[in-house]
Amino acid sequence: MSRVKNHPDFWENVEKTDTCWLWTGSQNYDGYGNFYGKRTHRLAYELTYGRIPKGFYICHTCDRPRCVKPEHLFLGSPSDNSIDAEKKGRRVHIVINSEAKKRYKKPRIKALIDANVRHQRKHLTNN
Ligand SMILES: [Zn+2]
Repeated sequence: MSRVKNHPDFWENVEKTDTCWLWTGSQNYDGYGNFYGKRTHRLAYELTYGRIPKGFYICHTCDRPRCVKPEHLFLGSPSDNSIDAEKKGRRVHIVINSEAKKRYKKPRIKALIDANVRHQRKHLTNN
């Protein structure tokens, strides 16, 4: 992990457009970028905000799997169908799945949610 984290080439494989930062390196079959076996949107999130807590997923506010722009990434759970609806409603939303609930105490989860709500609000107001 640290080898990947410190890898200087990561951001060189990114095409910065006016809206999204698109990964130009290799891609997985599902359209997500791949960098040394890691999904690039998750890696971009970790490089920017720190480790992704176990049980959380990284979602895109822009719906583009190849996008690695940190401002477009947020923690969530793909098992919750409300993510897309909330996203399109331009409302701040966070989803915590059951694994995360078991693993973390409430104050920790609350802190993670607060950080992400702030992060998402910032993105939405800048848009
Ligand atoms: Zn994007």
